Amino acid sequence: MSNPKDKLHAVPPPHDEEIKISEPENYAAGPPALAAVARHLGAEMTAKKCGITLFTVNQMEGYDCPGCAWPDPDDHRSPIGEYCENGVKAIVEEATEKRVTPDFFRKYSIQEMSTWTDYKIGKSGRITEPVIRKAGSDYYEPITWDDAYQHIAEHLNGLENPDQAVFYTSGKASNEAAFLYQLFVRQYGTNNLPDCSNMCHESTGVALSETIGIGKGTVKLEDFYIADLIIVMGQNPGTNHPRMLSALEITKKKGGKIMGVNPLKEAGLQRFKNPQKVKGFLRGTSLMDLYIPVAVNGDLAFLKAIMYLLLQEEDQAPGTIFDQEFIANNTSYYEEFINDLRLKDFAELVKFSGISEEKIREATQMIKENKKIIICWAMGITQHENSVNTIREIMNLLLLKGSIGKPGAGACPVRGHSNVQGDRTVGVWEKLQPELRDALEKNFDFKPPTENGFHVVDSILAMAEGKVKFYMGLGGNLLSAGPDTKFTATAFQKCELTVQISTKLNRNHLIAGATSIILPCIGRTEIIPTTAGDQIISCENSTGVVQASRGKVDPISKHLRAEPTIIAELANVVVGDKYAKPNWQPLAADYDVIRDLIEATIPGFDNFNERVRNRGGFYLPNAAREGNFETETGKALFSVNPVLNLTVKKDEYIMMTIRSHDQFNTTIYGNNDRYRGIENGRRVVFMNEADIEKAGFKSGDKVDLFSYFEKERRVARDFQIIEYDIPVNTVATYFPEANVLVPINSFAHRSYTPVYKSVIIKMAPALV
Ligand code: SF4
Repeated sequence: MSNPKDKLHAVPPPHDEEIKISEPENYAAGPPALAAVARHLGAEMTAKKCGITLFTVNQMEGYDCPGCAWPDPDDHRSPIGEYCENGVKAIVEEATEKRVTPDFFRKYSIQEMSTWTDYKIGKSGRITEPVIRKAGSDYYEPITWDDAYQHIAEHLNGLENPDQAVFYTSGKASNEAAFLYQLFVRQYGTNNLPDCSNMCHESTGVALSETIGIGKGTVKLEDFYIADLIIVMGQNPGTNHPRMLSALEITKKKGGKIMGVNPLKEAGLQRFKNPQKVKGFLRGTSLMDLYIPVAVNGDLAFLKAIMYLLLQEEDQAPGTIFDQEFIANNTSYYEEFINDLRLKDFAELVKFSGISEEKIREATQMIKENKKIIICWAMGITQHENSVNTIREIMNLLLLKGSIGKPGAGACPVRGHSNVQGDRTVGVWEKLQPELRDALEKNFDFKPPTENGFHVVDSILAMAEGKVKFYMGLGGNLLSAGPDTKFTATAFQKCELTVQISTKLNRNHLIAGATSIILPCIGRTEIIPTTAGDQIISCENSTGVVQASRGKVDPISKHLRAEPTIIAELANVVVGDKYAKPNWQPLAADYDVIRDLIEATIPGFDNFNERVRNRGGFYLPNAAREGNFETETGKALFSVNPVLNLTVKKDEYIMMTIRSHDQFNTTIYGNNDRYRGIENGRRVVFMNEADIEKAGFKSGDKVDLFSYFEKERRVARDFQIIEYDIPVNTVATYFPEANVLVPINSFAHRSYTPVYKSVIIKMAPALV
C-alpha cells in the first residue's frame, strides 16, 4: 500500500503557463517599480491600511520593515517614505486582506495544497487560528492555544532526552522573542538551535570572528557617504537590499567610486532611478564604475591577483601602496601572508578568477588609488565550499589598505532578513559561548547544556536518521530554504511532532511531522495588545543598530498572539515547574521585563528600555569599528588561504541559485523577474549562448538538471533554457526550485553553509 506522504509535493510543481522573455533591464527602480508597488498594494490591501503601513515603515516611531536588514538613516527619515519596491511587497504579504480560516482548512486537503505553487500557497492569506493536523489526517483542524501548549509540552517532556528536539529560528524573530526562545530551549536542556544564519552569513561570522574578533560588519550607513571606493561582491542589492542603492547614489554624488564583482551584471548595480527624486527618477544615476564578471567562486583568486599586483608596486616604492603604519600597529601575521603571496603564480590566479588580466589590472588600479574602501558582500560569497577563506581574503585586502577601524572604510556583510543579526546577538546559536553560558547560569539559576547543538545541516541529518523527533520553527520555511529538498522533506516527515509559529501558510506546513501544529502570530505591521497594554519589540540591522518596532494596524484576528507571548506561555507549560527563574507569566504580557533580562544577560544593552525608545535606537558596541581587535593577539590577523580552482568536465556546469525580483528568500511575491526579463515562470535555467550551442540545445528548450555527489544522483525536472549574459560553464536557477540539487553533505568548510552557489550539474533534454 502506498504511503499518502509519498504523494505530497516537496518541491513546487511545474506550472503550465508560457514563460515570456524580454531584454533584461539596465537600471533599477524608476517607473516600473512604482507601477509594481501600486499593483501589489491595490491587489491585497485597503486604501486605509496602505496609507498607515507605508508612511510608518522604517520611521522613527514606526515599525521595522519585515524584509531585509538594510539600515535606516540615524538622524532623519524621508517624510515621503523609507521603503523600496520589495519592502512594499513584504508589507503587502503580511498586511493582506486574504485569510486562511478553519473553513479554508476544511475545504483544502494537505494533499491538494501541496500540488499548488509556492506563490499560490503564499497568496492564500494570513492564518487566523491555531490548527493541528493529527497523525494520519489529511486536514488541519482548529485547536485552542492551551491545548496546543499541553500537546507540545507532553511531547517534549516525554522524549528520552532533550537533544531529540530541535528549535529553528528565522531572521524575522524580534530580539525579545529570540532571547526568550534560546532561554526556554536551554532550560529545556539542549543547544539544538539551528537558524537561518547557518544558511546565509555563517561563513562571514566564522571568518570575521577569527580575523577581527567580531562576527559582524564594521561600517555605519554614513560611512557609505564618505567612502572613496565601494566594492560590491557576490551581491544583488537591486533586488535583495534595494535601499542600499540610495546609499550608493550618495557615494557617487560625493565623488566615490563603485566596483561590482559578480558573475551576473545585475540591473541594480548599473543605474538607479530614485523614485524619491524627480531628476533621478527620470534619468537615474549610473552606479558602477567598473564591472568584474568574475567566475562563480573565482572571487578568492581575483582578490589574490589584485594583492599580488599591489605587492609588486609596494616593493618598488615601499609605503606608497600598503598602509604600513596601520599594518605595523594593528595587525599580526603580515610576513606570513606576504611570503605566501610572493609564491603565487599570477597567470594561474588570472585563470582561476575567470577574468581577463586587463580587467584585473583595472581593478588593481582603482584599489591602489583609493584609501577609504568598503567591501560589501552577500550570498554570492558565503555559500561556497571555501567561503570562509574568501572572506578572510577580503579582510586581507582591507588590512593591507588600512581600510578598517576608520570612517568611510570597513567590512559590510549585508544581511538578508530584518533581525537575523539580532537573533544571534541575543543568544540564538547552536554554539553556546562561555560568557553567555555563565550569564544564563547566574541570572536564571540553572546549568545550561555545554555541548554544541545541531546547526541546520546536522538537524536535517538527525531528523532523517530518526535521532530527532520534534521540530519547532520560530518562523521560516526550512523545508524550502534548506538544501536537498527531497531529503529534507523525508527528514521532516520522520518527526513525530512539528510545530511552526507562522503568519502565513507555506510548504513546510504541508510537508511536516506525523502531527503538525501551526501557531499563528501577530506580524511586524501589527499592534501587539497584551494585558499590560500595547507592546513594542526591537530589531538589529546590518550595521548593529538596535531600534524599536511599533506595529500600527490591528492584528488580522483576535486569536493571534505575538511571538514573545507564545514563547513565554509555552515555556511556562514546558519548563515553568522546573526552575524558579524566570517567572514566565509576566514575560508574556510585559516586554519591558524581557528587555530588562536581556540587559542583565547580553553585553551592550545597558539602559535597554530607555535607549530602545530613543529616536533611531542605539548602536551596539563594535570594537573592530573603533580599530580594536579582540583576537588571539589583540590585533587584526592576516591569513594564508589556498586558492581553489573550481573546474568542470565537458558536459558539466557550475550552477548557482539566485533570487528573482519577485521573491524574498522562500516567499514568492509573483512569477516575474523584471530585471532579468522573465515573465510568468520560475523553472528557468540561465545559460551562456556558447554553452547552449556547444551542448546542442536551443534557447527555450526544456531540460532536466542533474547533480552528482558522492555517487548519489539528484534531479530537478522541466526547466526552460534562457540565453543570458552569464560566464561560460555557469548556469543560474532560482532558489528554492533548484535546492533539490544541493546535496545535504556539500557545505562550506567550518561554517557548514550549504553550497547553494556552486553545485556541479549536468543537463539533458526534459522527459516529457
Ligand atoms: S531595503 Fe530592505 S528594509 Fe528597506 S524597505 Fe527595502 S526590503 Fe525593507
